[in-house]
Amino acid sequence: MFDNLTEKLQATFKRMRSQGRLTADDVREGLRDVRFALLEADVNFKVVKEFLSQVEEEAVGQDVLDSLTPAQGVVRIVRDHLTTLMGGQVERIKMASNPPTVIYLVGLQGSGKTTTTAKLAKMLKQQGRQPLMVAADIYRPAAVDQLQALGQQIDVPVVFSPGLSPVQLAQEGWQKSRQLAKDVVLVDTAGRLHVDETLMTELVEMHEALPAHETLLVVDAMTGQDAVRVASAFKEKLPLTGVVLTKLDGDARGGAALSIRQVTGLPIKLVGSGEKVDALEPFQPDRMASRILG
Ligand code: GDP
Repeated sequence: MFDNLTEKLQATFKRMRSQGRLTADDVREGLRDVRFALLEADVNFKVVKEFLSQVEEEAVGQDVLDSLTPAQGVVRIVRDHLTTLMGGQVERIKMASNPPTVIYLVGLQGSGKTTTTAKLAKMLKQQGRQPLMVAADIYRPAAVDQLQALGQQIDVPVVFSPGLSPVQLAQEGWQKSRQLAKDVVLVDTAGRLHVDETLMTELVEMHEALPAHETLLVVDAMTGQDAVRVASAFKEKLPLTGVVLTKLDGDARGGAALSIRQVTGLPIKLVGSGEKVDALEPFQPDRMASRILG
């Protein structure tokens, strides 16, 4: 994938070289390929513009133009810059010094919250934690069944009780974690098709009743620009601590990762790469940079 952009730039610069040395204008023209790659990956237009002006400054100010392989030089600068802008390194899930750690998974319906809750429980279990899950998406009965089935599959208890409100279920989850000696409470919350007041109010009330150590926004990478709007709307109301980008096993080039990070400042912590319960990985900015560049 990464070779494509290098090759494209190589061809562009080669054409220019036949007319002599590379100039700053040549770099600007070469960066047009990068611009297309970013826009094609569905990176927010404003983010692309700002990003390219920074890269241009850096590329022109270096010896890249005089080198024998200016295309690789420019691509390296672009790639390094993208990686840094997406946080540079892997961002871990924060654990409470005084357990249980409370982690909420929030987001729109269909984004992958329920699946991610179970995936994260499995990941934490493999790291030696003792998680417990709370089925608080009570408006979609299938979500409760789905979480209970996943809980059985990964051998993690699921807290649910018909008639309890999401706020009560969160509190019940905390109590059960004490009784069962569990050290992480993962709360799967309800989503709507669109961001709405009722949803937000309920999530705020849950956070008041049981404060969070992590509130992870689950977003579908396939929704691109919409994911950025969703992230901004959730961030306005909730103490979000990070993002999980799902469905990266699909066609999405992953531009949402850069846009979300740049527009909201939220770190992307995890990525979902399949429907199976072990298809969850820490977000690696350098790998995502390569994917975005195509
Ligand atoms: P929720 O409504 O937010 O709880 O979403 P679900 O967890 O029910 O997920 C919605 C659909 O997306 C389900 O069919 C999941 O199997 C699927 N899904 C979730 N995460 C991923 C992922 O990383 N990759 C793929 N391909 N599908 C996913």
